[in-house]
Amino acid sequence: MTLALTRADLLIALFPIVQVLWVAAFGACVGSLLNVLVYRLPLGLDVVTPSSRCPNCETKLTWRENIPIFGWLMLRGRCRFCRSPISAEYPIVEAFTAVLWAAVFVVLYADQGRFLGIPVGRLGPDWGQGQFTWTWPSLVVVLALFSCLIAVTLIDARTFHIPLSLLIVPVVIALAAHPLHALWVHIKIPSGRLPRVAAGWEWTIATPGPHGWRWIGAAIGGTVGLVISNLLLWKGLIKRSFADYDDWLKTLPATATTAQPHSTADAAPADSPEMWTQYPHARREMFRELIFLAPAIGLAMVGTWAAFAYAGPWKPNPVTISTDPTKIAPLWLSVLSGVLLGYLIGGGVVWAMRIAGSLAFGKEALGLGDVHLMAAVGACLGWIDSTLAFFGAAFVGVAWAILGRLFSGVFRRHMPFGPYLAIATVLVWFSKPGIAHLLTLLSKARPPLALP
Ligand SMILES: [Zn+2]
Repeated sequence: MTLALTRADLLIALFPIVQVLWVAAFGACVGSLLNVLVYRLPLGLDVVTPSSRCPNCETKLTWRENIPIFGWLMLRGRCRFCRSPISAEYPIVEAFTAVLWAAVFVVLYADQGRFLGIPVGRLGPDWGQGQFTWTWPSLVVVLALFSCLIAVTLIDARTFHIPLSLLIVPVVIALAAHPLHALWVHIKIPSGRLPRVAAGWEWTIATPGPHGWRWIGAAIGGTVGLVISNLLLWKGLIKRSFADYDDWLKTLPATATTAQPHSTADAAPADSPEMWTQYPHARREMFRELIFLAPAIGLAMVGTWAAFAYAGPWKPNPVTISTDPTKIAPLWLSVLSGVLLGYLIGGGVVWAMRIAGSLAFGKEALGLGDVHLMAAVGACLGWIDSTLAFFGAAFVGVAWAILGRLFSGVFRRHMPFGPYLAIATVLVWFSKPGIAHLLTLLSKARPPLALP
């Protein structure tokens, strides 16, 4: 009897390890999928078929060789048939994804900051903390986003181009998962709320809250405006910016050799990924982008006004000395608006900097790919995380430049902005309590600030 008990105790003690190994194994499999995407998306190849094979001799991989990490180790990094080397990048990406997934899981669900009795400190947001049963849909959103960020980082660093198809995936998952999760929690938990979220917040991302009608109106109005702009673009009623970029590129070699024969060494070659910085009409194109954004900005204002009209009389609140509407917003609507606001603000901050920078310097500053990237981050993690990550990305860039001074090799590479944004997003997520503490110190806020 005593023996059986200790065995049961042992099983209970080992359970977290088994859980984390499962999460890591799933992560490794997703890492394997990311390898396929990183290789095939820039080449415009089909992502689903054909099955994985040696790029040199086209020999198909067996199911054993397809096992993440171990398949590569079994082959010792060479094709079974033609012996040509297989890049170590594949197992490294798989291992990195596995570790990142496991780290997210441990940070969220380590109870009271302890995992297997080891104090792992308080990293990450408050909403996990031993309540996997009620929060797993939000975990799925975080893991989907971080996985896409890994692929975006690798593709952008190599090609200076971010495939938008990769960023649509986390946006669609966030749009579906967050509101449905909220609806489910509201029905199943008697209080109608998650048991644990950061103080002052009601969800796993920043949301407008039960009285935030003006933000709900702005989120819905702005989103409708974006849909209208895209329809106009699709119908050809407004023009895409940089539409004549390819035509301009074709005229280039002639002008570069005849007009300025001595300056060709300074100019980037026509096939360089940096070529877009030479495009001369960046200022003009920004006005085109402002026209595209006008319906979103206008309808966000209309939405705010409509919210005032809908939510009924706004009563003065004696505690906050502000006025609150008498009508309470349902949780699912508040959370849906949080996702939309995250998308609009996340992308909007980058877009505003792009327009301001391009108008100021006369060359394209920040790509539209970066706008889509931070819009996806905002949709998944909320507007606070995406805004912090955007400004944090500059520090990541500085850190990379310092590494480039200290070391050679990969750190010397000239990098686009996308990877900095992706790295900053992950760092922000993993340092929520630290950032909240810092913001509290800087603003001298009482009570202390908390991040969702
Ligand atoms: Zn081969």
